Amino acid sequence: MERVYLDNAATTPLSACAAAAMGPYLEPGVQAPFGNANSLHTAGREAFSVLEDCRVRVARALSARRPDEVIFTSGATEADNAAVIGIALAERERRALQGRHEAGHVVLSRIEHDAVLHCEGPLKRLGFAVDFVECDASGHVSAEALAAVMRDDTVLASVMAVNNEIGSVMDTAALAHAAHERKALFHVDAVQALGKVPVDVQRFGADAASFSAHKVGGPKGVGVLYLKARTPFSPLLVGGGQEGGLRSGTQNVAGIVGATAAIEHAVAEQPAFSSRAAAWRDELYERLGALPRVVAAVAPDRAQGAYAPHIVSVCVRGMESQSIILQLDMRGICVSGGSACSSQSLDPSHVLAALQVPRNLAQGLIRVSFGEYTRRCDIDAFLAAFEEVVA
Ligand code: PLP
Repeated sequence: MERVYLDNAATTPLSACAAAAMGPYLEPGVQAPFGNANSLHTAGREAFSVLEDCRVRVARALSARRPDEVIFTSGATEADNAAVIGIALAERERRALQGRHEAGHVVLSRIEHDAVLHCEGPLKRLGFAVDFVECDASGHVSAEALAAVMRDDTVLASVMAVNNEIGSVMDTAALAHAAHERKALFHVDAVQALGKVPVDVQRFGADAASFSAHKVGGPKGVGVLYLKARTPFSPLLVGGGQEGGLRSGTQNVAGIVGATAAIEHAVAEQPAFSSRAAAWRDELYERLGALPRVVAAVAPDRAQGAYAPHIVSVCVRGMESQSIILQLDMRGICVSGGSACSSQSLDPSHVLAALQVPRNLAQGLIRVSFGEYTRRCDIDAFLAAFEEVVA
């Protein structure tokens, strides 16, 4: 049975360009480019120069002003943790120098990925007050809503660019402006935006942004933290002082080479991918919505606000996600029920809870997500199987 893969928001297959770029780095033996980018000998210097070339190319692809604003990490979870906790810590240290001993206040959006949401615990243990900004019924977090939660002592706000479960696209520039007006810093998790909507970190107005290679055809375990020059930041990983002292640990040169190729490719292909995917998204919402047990996850009207082209989220009345996913899987089709991280849990998604979707309906959430290798025939195969399963 040929596999139909429609879970690209969870992870994507490796892009041909990433596989080709990484090929030489996966060869065995001392003649392969395997060096430690921090070693003084030729093998090390070669690795260093490859790494710095990747930094320049990623900075260009993300429209960063300077290559040293790009920090390579082990993925977006690390980039999110480092941005939220690292910036908050640095702000706490700065305030302490001014004789202000209360840590300050951090705002996170209620619909963040767990990699941001679960920073709440460590932040509170470090003495920060944490509040959440809600989204509206269409799944968008507005600048007005953010401004209403900000306080005089808010040091950082973090709101994602594109939600990974329902695809809502935030007005990142307006959110950054709202944070900056109150003299707070702004972080954006842009994992689901890259390759799907135009990404320009300068236009975003963010002080920090997180990206993940494996969502755009790169290898797993490689991410990027964009940290605008002069942003206060206290590194979470300390050691050998790699990445300009901001993220210690020997760099994964092979992975970074693959990530760089994939990121460049995703950015270059974004307009073509988006128009192809948006047509499938709209068609799926229309055809799935016509099935008696199916309702779109985003209420009340999808036409309100912007949505990324690669995500379709629907709820099936009277059925549970897990059962639908497994029945589709038996027919060779891979989809998910919300985010991949929560797919083992029977609790309904926190995003649908924030949207006030009733619990029994939220339990039937199915997310279909497209990627570079999605073809028209995959959409047709999914539709036929889904109609059978939910009939
Ligand atoms: N943020 C968002 C919005 C995501 O969709 C994901 C992926 O699941 C992550 C962060 C975490 O990324 P990574 O798997 O690279 O740690």
